[in-house]
Amino acid sequence: MNIFVLNCGSSSLKFQIMQTDLEMIEKDQDKTIAKGLIERVGSQSLINFQVDGRSPIKLATPLRDHRAALLYAINWITNPETQIPGIESLQDVHAIGHRVVHGGERFKRSIRIDAAVISEIEDCIDLAPLHNPANLKGIYAARDVFGQTIPQVAIFDTSFHSTMDEVTYLYALPYQYYRRYKIRKYGFHGTSHRYVAYKYRKLAGIKKEECNIITLHLGNGASACAIKAGKSIDTSMGMTPIEGLMMGTRTGDLDPAVIELLAYKEGATLDEIFAILNKRSGLLGISGLTNDMRDLIEEEQEHSDRRATLAINMFCGRVRKYIGAYTAAMNGVDALCFTAGIGENSAEIRRRICNNMNWLGVELDDELNQQAFGGREMMISTPNSKVKIYVIPTNEELILARDTCRVVLNVQNPAN
Ligand code: AMP
Repeated sequence: MNIFVLNCGSSSLKFQIMQTDLEMIEKDQDKTIAKGLIERVGSQSLINFQVDGRSPIKLATPLRDHRAALLYAINWITNPETQIPGIESLQDVHAIGHRVVHGGERFKRSIRIDAAVISEIEDCIDLAPLHNPANLKGIYAARDVFGQTIPQVAIFDTSFHSTMDEVTYLYALPYQYYRRYKIRKYGFHGTSHRYVAYKYRKLAGIKKEECNIITLHLGNGASACAIKAGKSIDTSMGMTPIEGLMMGTRTGDLDPAVIELLAYKEGATLDEIFAILNKRSGLLGISGLTNDMRDLIEEEQEHSDRRATLAINMFCGRVRKYIGAYTAAMNGVDALCFTAGIGENSAEIRRRICNNMNWLGVELDDELNQQAFGGREMMISTPNSKVKIYVIPTNEELILARDTCRVVLNVQNPAN
């Protein structure tokens, strides 16, 4: 099956075409045959398309909206000159898998999209006003461009965390706000945490019920997840992605009284304050320089920039705090698994996070740690480390493609 996997952000469109079927999933042989990224949708858009094994095509062109961007991508995919193996026309794409950020309490697993599902995803907009509208644009555009008959599947960032207990997911607010508005912790990055847990089980050669790990998705967005007996029992993001770890531009955990004080002192509206908390805080806010961890490390090393160091140390400190909390919540942990841009590539950040954790049984092998970057999947703890440490490059698209395939074939998804 050729699956078109689509991930729409507010001004971006990311896609992959993956070949998969039940046998390929079983043998772990499914593969990406082409992929693309369109940034700055709505203005002069930046295109980066690539057929597997060939050089990428990069160019800029104006694309008005997500529909125009998707049409542009489809024209490239079906152009005879592009020569994607197995793809000659739109009919060679058999199903579409959409990443949807918020599935609320309704969607505990991936589901085939129909009018009722679209309306329920629209109902979740209140919970994810920044993300779900963009995901929906992708769904509407795909319906327009591919037609009504091709199966479309929604895969939710929140689903993996639907196994959390109410003791964990409730905020200590008056209970009626949960009943009335479904205000609670949902958690995000679910496909990434799920993929990393799946890959860890393969590497460790264990069953799902034996999987007791903490996954650390450290990218521009960042979250930690406590996985016990293969299920998410807690995660650091909350009702929205702003809660939890410090991120590139998001605050993470914050006393809500800060919002009142900012409104009072700065005369700021709620929208303005949330723009500060989402877009101007985190690594960027503390350093005053950048949200990019690579640049912060460079600033620290080359210019001894005090606030770059402060931002990095705050970031690592928060991760350590969550590791401690989740280790307690799980009554011990077998492995820490690092993933995403920072987790996969930065030996320095992993070193600072794991530093001085001997009491917890965490012992990093410095040499192995240095070798883990650029997509390498490996264990980086010493043989004596009670808690193993892994670097596992994430692959959310694989989960999206596999779920799409299983939903279309009506096969129960074993990994959720
Ligand atoms: P992501 O959101 O997963 O794409 O991750 C983006 C983040 O990963 C940015 O902060 C990058 O600076 C960071 N990153 C990527 N490569 C490295 C690296 N070699 N060292 C430190 N941070 C990195």
